[in-house]
Amino acid sequence: MAGGPNAEHVACTTCMWEASQITKAARLAEGIETDFYRCEQGHEFGIDWDHGGPPKEPQWPPATELVEALKSQGRWTQNAGTVR
Ligand SMILES: [Zn+2]
Repeated sequence: MAGGPNAEHVACTTCMWEASQITKAARLAEGIETDFYRCEQGHEFGIDWDHGGPPKEPQWPPATELVEALKSQGRWTQNAGTVR
């Protein structure tokens, strides 16, 4: 078991880094060390939970600090939409 129940949904890392957007991604498959996800924009990626262990808090909704950081850039979107 990789990320466990708190890692069932996460914020898409690709959307975050490429577009400063927070998009919900759902787990497709749970591995020994790495879980695989697909976001609502169609990105597929893996998260290796082996380093820090399974998260103790649910990874969705995203942390307030993360939301505020993206909001401050004026490019916030909650759910796969676009912000002008
Ligand atoms: Zn994405």
